[in-house]
Amino acid sequence: MIKKRYILNFPPESGDKPLSYCLVKDYDISINILKAEVYPGKRGSLLLELQGKKENIQKGVEYLTAQNIICEPLEKRIHFQEEKCIDCGNCTAVCFAGALTMDKVNWKLDFDKEKCVVCELCIPACPLKLFYIDFS
Ligand code: SF4
Ligand code: SF4
Repeated sequence: MIKKRYILNFPPESGDKPLSYCLVKDYDISINILKAEVYPGKRGSLLLELQGKKENIQKGVEYLTAQNIICEPLEKRIHFQEEKCIDCGNCTAVCFAGALTMDKVNWKLDFDKEKCVVCELCIPACPLKLFYIDFS
């Protein structure tokens, strides 16, 4: 089993197709929607995390591509220099995904990487410039 993140850009005509249902049923892939920007009748985009067997994910992506959906693997991730953090909390105000939160007990910053949607808003929000993008 592997987990991979993809950004999907799809045309308006694919809006009413049961794409998620097909991925789950036909390819045995679990889907976690991390971010969605879908406007009826217009292009839309989704940030998905797919979990399943490597070959099934590959086939699922091929299926989406055959439906005119552009699937780009999301390889970049946000990192931050934890040891330099002063726990000011500025970054939590812009993290709508809930990946950055303050621990209410000790007022330390918590970074849940699994929730990060790589929106990059925390990069300018940190006064110490502790966030950076890792493309590896
Ligand atoms: S990039 Fe930063 S602000 Fe955006 S979800 Fe990830 S941690 Fe939160
Ligand atoms: S804005 Fe920077 S210094 Fe402040 S809590 Fe976030 S990472 Fe730490």
